[in-house]
Amino acid sequence: MDNSGSLRGAGRYAPTPSGDLHLGNLRTALLAWLFARTSGRAFLMRIEDLDRARDAGSAEQQLADLSAIGIDWVGEAMRQSAQAEAHAAAIERLRASGLVYECTCTRREIQAAPSAPHGAPGAYPGTCRELSDAERRAARQRIAPRHPALRLRAPEEYLRGGVAFHDRVLGERRGDVDDLVLQRGDGTVAYNLAVVVDDAASGVDQVVRGDDLAPSTPRQVMLQRLLGLPTPEYAHVPLVLGPTGARLAKRDGAVTLRDLSASGIGPEDVLALLARSVGLARSGERPSASALLERFDPAVLSSAPWTFSPDALESDG
Ligand code: GLU
Repeated sequence: MDNSGSLRGAGRYAPTPSGDLHLGNLRTALLAWLFARTSGRAFLMRIEDLDRARDAGSAEQQLADLSAIGIDWVGEAMRQSAQAEAHAAAIERLRASGLVYECTCTRREIQAAPSAPHGAPGAYPGTCRELSDAERRAARQRIAPRHPALRLRAPEEYLRGGVAFHDRVLGERRGDVDDLVLQRGDGTVAYNLAVVVDDAASGVDQVVRGDDLAPSTPRQVMLQRLLGLPTPEYAHVPLVLGPTGARLAKRDGAVTLRDLSASGIGPEDVLALLARSVGLARSGERPSASALLERFDPAVLSSAPWTFSPDALESDG
């Protein structure tokens, strides 16, 4: 454990409020907390509620569940939906540098278009990139009353070479980028922009999250560079697999604290299971979250997924 003095920087957990957290989410949150706290960082919480329709009180339940397993954070949880001004200001900065253009393409048009000369598979083909003012006006009229989306004009060097980053779990990574969406036609700011702006605004210099998000990281690093923001340290941690070998999901049965407590499995049992899954506890042991801070060594974290089986749960009863 790094006890070298006062707090420096921050780590965070940033759940999307789309229902109860399952064991995979809780395990990622625990790892993010352990990474931050054992490196002398503050730990912050952010509710990623840009798509507000999804939150039907689930943010409060998520925070209660995180507390129940012993995860704590500094200050109030930040609400991403309250950061609209900062998101708009970042888009304005990109626009002022000539890095934003309107896009009226539908998903179907993008799929049907031939790919760009240097484009990676699935990359935006650049259809709306070089339209004249008159063409753009006509395109806007064609889709009315819908509004155009805003895309980033990714600099050529990024489109050709992709973006590399170092990951504490996955090692050296490089991934393709494209003219990503900054703001959807309905006005919703894109996840990639919001995450970059919000992390920088709250002093986050360590991002620990599920490795399903590793492919988004090159785009986020590109945005950080274009906005003049620092790039945090990254650790993408392995996902939890369910009994069928696919990524754990709520359809796999009792995988949330709420379902488990109904069968007599309490938050301490869940914490013990998660601790065993990262090699920080032995069978039958019930260490507190703060005891895990003494045991955690990020250097030995495996990049292999962990498979959850209901038999692994040990209750007191
Ligand atoms: N809100 C995202 C999720 O729940 C996580 C975003 C991040 O950690 O950057 O999957």
